[in-house]
Amino acid sequence: TRNARQLAREVGREAHDLLERGLDRQLRLAVTGLSGAGKTAFLVSLIEQLRHAGLGARLELLPAARDGRLLGAERVSQPDLSIPRFPLEAGLRSLSGQHSPHGPEWPTPTRSISELRLKIGFRPTSRAARMLDSQRATLTLDLIDYPGEWLLDLPMLEQDFTAWSSECETQLADGRGDWAHDWMGAIAGLTPDSEVDEDRLAEIASLYTDYLHAARRKGGFVDLTPGRFLLPGELDEAPVLQFFPLPGLGDWTADALAALPETSLYRTLARRFDHYRRRVVRPFYHDHFRRFDRQIVLIDVLGALNAGPAPFRDLSRALDKLFDSFAYGRRHLLARLMDRRIDRLAIAATKADHVTPEQHGAMRDLLEQLLAGPLKRLRYRDVPLKAFTIAAIRASEAREVVENGQRHPALAGHLLGEHEGSSDSGTQGAGRESVLLFPGEVPSRLPDPNFWAESRFDFPHFAPPQVDGKAPPHIRMDAVLDWLLGDHLK
Ligand code: GDP
Repeated sequence: TRNARQLAREVGREAHDLLERGLDRQLRLAVTGLSGAGKTAFLVSLIEQLRHAGLGARLELLPAARDGRLLGAERVSQPDLSIPRFPLEAGLRSLSGQHSPHGPEWPTPTRSISELRLKIGFRPTSRAARMLDSQRATLTLDLIDYPGEWLLDLPMLEQDFTAWSSECETQLADGRGDWAHDWMGAIAGLTPDSEVDEDRLAEIASLYTDYLHAARRKGGFVDLTPGRFLLPGELDEAPVLQFFPLPGLGDWTADALAALPETSLYRTLARRFDHYRRRVVRPFYHDHFRRFDRQIVLIDVLGALNAGPAPFRDLSRALDKLFDSFAYGRRHLLARLMDRRIDRLAIAATKADHVTPEQHGAMRDLLEQLLAGPLKRLRYRDVPLKAFTIAAIRASEAREVVENGQRHPALAGHLLGEHEGSSDSGTQGAGRESVLLFPGEVPSRLPDPNFWAESRFDFPHFAPPQVDGKAPPHIRMDAVLDWLLGDHLK
């Protein structure tokens, strides 16, 4: 009959599609964010959710898991042996609470690029797969973690040393000068035509790096270049990282600068700047970035709210730059670097367990406002993207307290000990206080001066929950997984 013929045709087409794609599908998913955004926690959680699918992981928003088709995942050896392995085991050890007198600890953050390959087993839904009698298909998922700081270097590819120097000069004037005294002292007597020896250059570059670190750690600033000075990866101490911007170039004409001798300070720094662009920035895009299929960018919006107005403004500027990497698409100089496009992008505000659940909507609105410019450009370029509010590893529980007959939302959790708060502090604090609190309201629009004046913001640092041999508790990791993988698990 006609129906039978049509069915046969449809099944034939599905079978053809399936064979085309192969039963073993592949996907390269990259995870980035500025340091402290939550990449390491996110990857540990993502991997553990998949490994425990069907075994206690709560993944209702991921249809393949909800329907019982997700069969779990296992780690296999990664394809690129020159990239460090993502430290999953170390992260799990920290969370297990077996190795510290204080109990579970947050995984130690990664500082460079790392990679991990998972094979995810699932039962396909398509009729063709069933007819071909394959009850089981696999998705090979390559997870790549890299510092968002590296993306902040992208604009350098289109800048010359003079333009970059003048940008740095402007930034210094915007609230960061405090951290730069030593470096500014060191260059005070220098002019573009000065002759400076190698050792002295290395010293000054190291003072400039100190400035970047201080502005980051103490000031909460993030729009800091060169990104590799903060997170050098394998380039630690390499001479290619020994340069710095030269203020005051605006007083010189291009001709006068070009006429300076090779050995002059200006020519030396400009040469190193070019070398950095060619040998560090460009290869990252060429060797890694353009090979990603999908990307998630994690953003610590709450942390920036905690830090105050100048760092918050700075985060907005940094994100603007960072997202240009994804919107660049076909633009001139980079066109060749970006010949392949990321086909899905996720943007997530992390650590949502720091606020009560009814604030999550506001948190997402704030994220979208913060990214208004880049989101517009990405949509214009037709990059499919979605924004989320998540907690990779939920460290608090939502509660209600009743006061004078009124119900109020609250959070219960354990605070990290006194010196445990920052992820890179070595010393551990005393006991962990158990608390019940309301951490404040998230503005759903970009905060105005009144907001900062009232400064109602104070988010606690929660200790992680104990996660031992099970999937970490989370908020909306399943929704993120659905957006990033769902269509490949059909
Ligand atoms: P990375 O530098 O981007 O890899 O950031 P990490 O994953 O190391 O996260 C930095 C810190 O943020 C951690 O040490 C935790 O204190 C905190 N953090 C990360 N994810 C979460 C989360 O889901 N919930 C909570 N409460 N804190 C988180």
